[in-house]
Amino acid sequence: MMILLNPGPVNLSDRVRNALLRPDLCHREVEFSQLQSQIREKLLQVYDLPGEGWAAVLLTGSGTAAMEAMVTSLVPKNGKLLVIENGVYGERLSKIATIHGIEYLTLHHPWGDEIDIKNLVTLLDENNDITHLAVVHHETTTGRLNDLAQLGTICQERNILLLVDAVSSFGAEKLNFESWGITACAATANKCLHGIPGTCFVIVRRDALAGADTIPRTLYLDLRTYCQQQDKGGTPFTQSVQAFYALAEALQELEEQGGWRVRHSYYSQLVSLVRNGLLAIGIEPLLSATSSSVVLNAFNLPDNLSYDEFHDQLKAQGFVIYAGQGTLAKSIFRVSTMGAIAHADMERFLAVVKQIITQIK
Ligand SMILES: *Cc1c(COP(=O)(O)O)cnc(C)c1O
Repeated sequence: MMILLNPGPVNLSDRVRNALLRPDLCHREVEFSQLQSQIREKLLQVYDLPGEGWAAVLLTGSGTAAMEAMVTSLVPKNGKLLVIENGVYGERLSKIATIHGIEYLTLHHPWGDEIDIKNLVTLLDENNDITHLAVVHHETTTGRLNDLAQLGTICQERNILLLVDAVSSFGAEKLNFESWGITACAATANKCLHGIPGTCFVIVRRDALAGADTIPRTLYLDLRTYCQQQDKGGTPFTQSVQAFYALAEALQELEEQGGWRVRHSYYSQLVSLVRNGLLAIGIEPLLSATSSSVVLNAFNLPDNLSYDEFHDQLKAQGFVIYAGQGTLAKSIFRVSTMGAIAHADMERFLAVVKQIITQIK
């Protein structure tokens, strides 16, 4: 079996994989309706959100569909968005705004940099017509975990609605929806929740959906239509039924294992193992442990070894690592802890890396 150290799709547990073999199902039947409602409830329960104020809206698509649905459904025609960029996914939020003709500004940072709060406050002071702020929680580009608590306070003081891309953090990092003032967050089945690709979702405050424009920007990604129909047990379009089976099982498994906090500490053990193990053979992390998530860390490539060579040698021994994007493609590699990975898998990974490094020296 190949151990996937890329940030999704993840290695599945046997019980999640077996869930894919449940009976064929029509998305207009009561069994589907029950499955969908069960997943929606369980998604809210991951962060103890009450069903009255909040809705989990399920979509068929990868995580980007959830990002696009969130931004296009919640920023109204007369709204103005501020996008914080410090990696690929922040820049993707800006692309979504451009494509859909949403008025927006960006607070740009080089990839991996910490969000500059002083600049943010100045920008908000100069543009008091900003209604929404969009930001990535865990920037998978570099492994940086952005500080949402601080952003939440700033937004709440100014009545700005906070939209979060939590695609690679939902289920394993702290997300304090109420006290951070999160209005909506986009996430996916196949990262920290350990499901399969095909299903994504937006967790949204119901009052924000009620205030959305009546004429949506898109047909397929309109959250309000999905939510209205899902509340009645329906769905506007065919959903990824088998991916729903897998997600329901994955959520059950997460609950039985003790929820996101237990998953957080498990990932945290794996990531410490990797950081310490790599550091011991001279491979340095890109960011400090305190700035990084427990979900993914980036490391500088060893000297005299290209990413492709490193990747191929590891793959030959059963491990898939992940390349850096854009300008980081030649300098870093990434290791994710998400999915059904055992301590022993990570220890074996470290042993194989050591062996590869020793050979090139
Ligand atoms: C994986 C990821 C996405 C979505 O990517 P897809 O390829 O559409 O699943 C969005 N944001 C972040 C932060 C991610 O890590």
